[in-house]
This record gives sequence, structure tokens and C-alpha cells, in this order.
Amino acid sequence: HELKTKLARLHGVSAEQLTLGNGSNDILVLVAEAFLTPDLEAVYSQYAFAVYPIAVHATGATCRSVAALPAGAAMAYGHDLTAMRAAITERTRLVFIANPNNPTGTYVEPQDLLRFIRSMPRSALVVLDEAYFEYARSIPLQNGIDWLDECPNLVIVRTFAKAYGLAGLRIGYAVSHPEVADMLNRIRQPFNVSSVALAAAAAALDDPEHVAHTVAVAISERVRVATVLRQRG
Ligand SMILES: *Cc1c(COP(=O)(O)O)cnc(C)c1O
Repeated sequence: HELKTKLARLHGVSAEQLTLGNGSNDILVLVAEAFLTPDLEAVYSQYAFAVYPIAVHATGATCRSVAALPAGAAMAYGHDLTAMRAAITERTRLVFIANPNNPTGTYVEPQDLLRFIRSMPRSALVVLDEAYFEYARSIPLQNGIDWLDECPNLVIVRTFAKAYGLAGLRIGYAVSHPEVADMLNRIRQPFNVSSVALAAAAAALDDPEHVAHTVAVAISERVRVATVLRQRG
């Protein structure tokens, strides 16, 4: 209750729109379990986050992995939203988008993403994975939660594993339409998140210094690793 209340206040949503997961990985699996069966399909990009195909395969649904943008494109290896839209059929129930993506570090422009979401059939959900939202300061990124009122078939996925530095405690969440959250909450394990993770996540939300420190360490490590890799050719 405490964490959901804090998250609802932070994002300007109601607690009924939230689903807590054992890491956001759990959320990705819950979404697949709730909405996919072997006769249905899910769409994602080549080089997108590795958990999407694992979650989809486990349901027996068909994976439509869409070729990424080519190496010579402005957003090399990024999601090709036009090709992804063309891959959507009446059997598509889920489309996964990682923004920014891991491992390619690519992103989609906010206006292109909103156009894509608006073009979706009502029979499909867009799962917008914003695991790195708090890091993305130098790129144009729209908080997908702002689109939820207009786009009820959107599921925003966030995690405490990255900028909040709590990867090993396993806690993430989805923000969605209340009816979608109701579906996810019906099938999740009743005690999928530990009391230790709940307490740590609530504390981290109130600790901007901790988040700033975690992000600063990641950025300085990125510089250090890039320098070493360059030195070694
Ligand atoms: C790390 C990561 C996740 C999963 O993080 P959890 O530790 O399960 O919360 C989800 N999506 C992307 C794109 C990630 O990089």
C-alpha cells in the first residue's frame, strides 16, 4: 500500500493503475501470460530486450521479430516502427517497445512513437518498456505515462533495477489502464514482491541523492569502460 501510494502520487495516476512485479521481468511475463495463447502473436524488434521472446515463447504464441533498422540508418539497429506496424495482424495482442532499448542504446522519437500507438488496433496492447527512463537525459524522450489517458491500450513498464540501484532486490511495476492492471493482478502470485524490496523501493523514491549517485556512477563507469575498450582497439 505504501509503495503504490507513493508511485500513484509520483506519476499522477490511481493505485488501480499499478501492478507491482518481482522485477519488471515479472511484469513482462505477466503481460504475456495474461494476453497470449498459442493462436495469437506478439511483435517486437530484432535486437530488442532479450526477455520479450522468452516471455512470448513460454505461452506458445507466435513471435514476430521485426528486422531492426540497418547499420547505415540514422538510428542504426533501432526499432523500425513502420515495419513493426506492418507486422501487426488481427492476431497480434502485444507489441513490445524498449525505449531506450537494451542492448543497442537506441530510441524512438516521441512523435513517431505516439503516431505508432495511435495507429494500433484496439485488439493489441503496446508494452512500452522504460527501464532506462531516468538515465535518458540527453535524448528526446516523452514519459509514456502522460499518454495513458488518451491511449488505454498502453502499458508502461518501469523498474527499480537501474537508476534506483535495486536490481538484486527484484522490484518493478507497470502503469496501465485499470482494466489491464486488474488482469495482471489477477494472475500474479499473491506475494510476488518481498517486503524487503517494497521497503527499499519506497525508500529509494524518497532519496533523490541515491538516484543521482547511482546514475553518476553508471555514467562515470561508461566513460571508463569506453576508454579502456578504445585503448585496446
Ligand atoms: C534490465 C531491463 C529490464 C528488467 O529489469 P528487472 O531487473 O527485471 O526490473 C527490463 N527491460 C529492459 C529494457 C531492461 O534493460
